[in-house]
Amino acid sequence: MPQIRPQPGIMEIALYVSGQSSLAGKAEVLKLSSNENPYGPSPKAQAAYAEAAATLHRYPSTDHAELRAAIGAVHGLDPDRIICGVGSDEVLQFITQSFAGPGDECITTEHGFSMYPILAHAAGAVPVEVAETDRRVDVDKILAAVTARTKIVFIANPANPTGTMVPGAELRRLAGALPMGVILVLDGAYAEFAGDYDGGVSLVEDFPNVVMTRTFSKIHGLGGLRIGWGYARREIIDVLNRVRQPFNLSLGQMAAAEAAVRDVEYTRWCAAENARWRDFLRNGLVQMGIACDESFANFVLARFDTPDEADAADAALKEDGILVRKVAGYKLPECLRITVGDEAACRRILGVLAAFKGVR
Ligand code: PMP
Repeated sequence: MPQIRPQPGIMEIALYVSGQSSLAGKAEVLKLSSNENPYGPSPKAQAAYAEAAATLHRYPSTDHAELRAAIGAVHGLDPDRIICGVGSDEVLQFITQSFAGPGDECITTEHGFSMYPILAHAAGAVPVEVAETDRRVDVDKILAAVTARTKIVFIANPANPTGTMVPGAELRRLAGALPMGVILVLDGAYAEFAGDYDGGVSLVEDFPNVVMTRTFSKIHGLGGLRIGWGYARREIIDVLNRVRQPFNLSLGQMAAAEAAVRDVEYTRWCAAENARWRDFLRNGLVQMGIACDESFANFVLARFDTPDEADAADAALKEDGILVRKVAGYKLPECLRITVGDEAACRRILGVLAAFKGVR
């Protein structure tokens, strides 16, 4: 029997762990573990998805022209410089697969999104993890880690799971200082929650090696459908399209995403609600003595005094049927990442944590 041997790097991959969605013995759970939109998608997206069912015998378009046109119109971007994928995860995969290979290095940061090292290994490259400073991406530390083998630098802005952001001027300094052959990926999965941040568009316009990725999973409430997109120079999009499967997005995905992005009013409303209840949640945590950095995303990172206290708080929440995300895998064992839910969810979790802290 010939030995079955995976490609180098594949066995180094630590399997992705997703947010828990059920609890043994609890019929109903309040799920605040995966940064989902608590209000769900736009009703227009749901209607468009249902309507797509009438033509399921037809293949979907291979070029996503209508969806790209809608994204371009709403965001003021050239549709020819947009690529769509099965979640932004797939767009990140196109980038890594296209620009990194054996012997290359991909820079991620200490609390960076866990998919980045997975994608680097899957491409045969080596992920290089750079330390952060107080849970913030540190541009100087990234620049110090760049070598002749560096091909990609991944930054999520706002970052998951910390919720912190790199200031615009710092990002610009990084983009300007990186060698031209290094792709800077600005992952904007949470960009819409960060006020007037453009997700990296202006940097894409000003630097040929910057790629922005975005998702329909968060602000648009379509995590279950899996749609994401990327924006870059035409030359880069042309490269990425070569590794993309022709029918990667289904009719239903494209119909729902197009309706979702065009429902600008609903998108704005979701962002405003998130900002309001994010502040409420963070203030509540801080008032009861649980540390919490300012968050620019749709979650907050609650910092307990010790990992044991975080575990005990997690157990108390589970007892109440509330699921949050333990982030020990991100080297933050004293933290729990809590998705910003609706008003009732925020009030409920603060109530449970207040009782846990004995401050009621
Ligand atoms: N980037 C970051 C920082 C994320 O947190 C996530 C979702 N967990 C993604 C990308 C991928 O999202 P999706 O594939 O659903 O678009």
